[in-house]
Amino acid sequence: MSPVWHPFTQHGLNEPIPEVVRTEGAALHTADGRRVIDAISSWWVITHGHSHPRLQAAIRSASERFDQIIFAGWTHEPAESLARGLVDMTPEPLQHVFYSDSGSTAVEVALKMALGFWANTDRPRHRIVVMQHSYHGDTIGTMSVGERGVFNQAYAPLLFDVATVPFPAAGMEQASLDALDAFCRQEPKPAAFIVEPLILGAGGMLIYSAETLRAYAGICARHGVLFIADEVMTGWGRTGTLLACEQAGVSPDILCLSKGLTGGALPLAATLATAPIFEAHRSTDRSKMFFHSSSYTANPIACAVAAENLAIWRDEPMLDRVTALGSAQQAGLDCIAGHPALSNPRRLGTIAAVDFDGARGGYLSGRGPWLKAFFAERDLLVRPLGDTVYVMPPYCIDPADLDRVWQAIGEAADTIDAQD
Ligand code: PLP
Repeated sequence: MSPVWHPFTQHGLNEPIPEVVRTEGAALHTADGRRVIDAISSWWVITHGHSHPRLQAAIRSASERFDQIIFAGWTHEPAESLARGLVDMTPEPLQHVFYSDSGSTAVEVALKMALGFWANTDRPRHRIVVMQHSYHGDTIGTMSVGERGVFNQAYAPLLFDVATVPFPAAGMEQASLDALDAFCRQEPKPAAFIVEPLILGAGGMLIYSAETLRAYAGICARHGVLFIADEVMTGWGRTGTLLACEQAGVSPDILCLSKGLTGGALPLAATLATAPIFEAHRSTDRSKMFFHSSSYTANPIACAVAAENLAIWRDEPMLDRVTALGSAQQAGLDCIAGHPALSNPRRLGTIAAVDFDGARGGYLSGRGPWLKAFFAERDLLVRPLGDTVYVMPPYCIDPADLDRVWQAIGEAADTIDAQD
């Protein structure tokens, strides 16, 4: 047996674990000679495509000059130019960039910045308001602000208490907004509200309106509660705009980025904050500095490839590309819409999803494992969230490959229909 212990994998089931030997565009090439279409961008990280030539060249060039450099009190050009680029590309109030290594750490940092802001301005606050069905990562802190359930029940006693607003499903928007407003009025006041803008990813690709997002931000601003946007999944064009917040005209106090930050080529995350949040930590008092780091903070090679990703966003018609992919995704959804085994076809930008069996099963009890195997047999990497099947491919996916994915979803629905 291999000594490797895989994430979100039940080794006791002895399910096949294919070995990838090469990646290219929207495909993974396996040791047994298969070309597998990566319909989920390898957990939502790959934006431009696997092994993108510009990103690979940036890695080669940076690795000739750098390896890891301590970042506490030291700096390097890739981190500086990336930070300037991020400040330029994001809403104007976001002026400061803190680096870390993953989406989870981007969120941990955001939570610690929010609490640090209140502590350092002598108004300590600790409560975080979250949205039902959210997912923000797998560390103890990020699990605390995410949906409770099978993923984290073993650690439940260690998770901190949060205030939860209901998901703003159609017709429930006002109840959700009222809940946030009520939490913001309670004493002691919350430190922050954290939200996945416009679409909840791991919670089931649940979409809500830009008006609601704008109204959440307005409530936070009125009550002086910090607004944290977790754009770890939604950033870098996934929802049709560079950031999902743009569609609501919202500028968060703290913004979390990762996944597509490097185009998916290397791990990196950035947490951006406004001047007041940075200034609350800037002082001659050393006890007020931001106490967070990881050994690999701001890895120069990762920063260089992220800077190249930003250059691609500046140089190439990225928004046209995501709009075209969105239309192709809609065509795929339209082909399967109305199938009796499927419900709730939905799309936001390049992300499309549909529910099997009315999404009645849970993450572990539904059709997910059967569907995953069904797609794997057809050389497709599709990883359902319970009964929800979603397609979130790299932006370079070939139309014929995308057609194959949607055709397979239709075939899965036919097979289930015939079984029932
Ligand atoms: N936040 C959101 C919205 C995510 O979707 C994810 C991962 O899927 C994370 C945070 C955690 O990111 P990572 O897996 O890089 O720690």
